[in-house]
Amino acid sequence: MKRFSISTDGQVIEYEVVHRPAVKRRIHLELGGRGELQVVAPRRMSKRAIQSALQQKAHHVARFLVKARSQQQAIPVFNYVDGEQHLYLGQWYSLKIRHTSGRSTGIELSADGLQILTPRADGEGIQGGLVNWYRKQAAHLFSDRLVFFSRTAPWTRGESPPMRLRLMKRTWGSCSSKGVITLNPHLVKAPPRCIDYVIAHEICHLKEHNHGRGFYALQEQLYPGWREAKAHLRDNGHIYLHS
Ligand SMILES: [Zn+2]
Repeated sequence: MKRFSISTDGQVIEYEVVHRPAVKRRIHLELGGRGELQVVAPRRMSKRAIQSALQQKAHHVARFLVKARSQQQAIPVFNYVDGEQHLYLGQWYSLKIRHTSGRSTGIELSADGLQILTPRADGEGIQGGLVNWYRKQAAHLFSDRLVFFSRTAPWTRGESPPMRLRLMKRTWGSCSSKGVITLNPHLVKAPPRCIDYVIAHEICHLKEHNHGRGFYALQEQLYPGWREAKAHLRDNGHIYLHS
């Protein structure tokens, strides 16, 4: 990929330009898997326009890189072995792996940790079992909270919208124009207040599709604690998305 650069305070910052169909209006910054800066820009924006926009905000770009790189280093590396700590609802639990001659992997949560009974004790087998388990918990929990907030929000007339689960790399949830709410199962690793925040947020989108004033008024009404939960996800979300 072609690399470009800007400079600030005598430091040269290299970047790559990435296009993504959903990005139509503004550029935003991301950190690639190897710690490189990626600038996601609308396809019709020229390379020169991108460069001048970045150069104008060079201080902000430099700050973004420092923070994003330190977050990337804080992402735990998992080996899926006995005793390793894994997240669920904002708490760490240690894996208790036991062999079974049965066919499938069973996982149960107890005060003691995440009990895993499995015929396959290799890392990949445990990881696969955990991904399924997280998804199952997400399905139960999210639909409960969706029912709760649908009953609270007057504009749904008490009806819960259809829900889908999809593993995503950078999105917690979305609401389609047809009113289908898609939620990221990774969210089940976050504290319950963050799950509530994302679900309440998407339920507000059933009435207000953009992030205008009307939307924020609804969000304030439906989930007043949204600011703190949003900040928690901003600061810790990378761990939930990668564990
Ligand atoms: Zn939104």
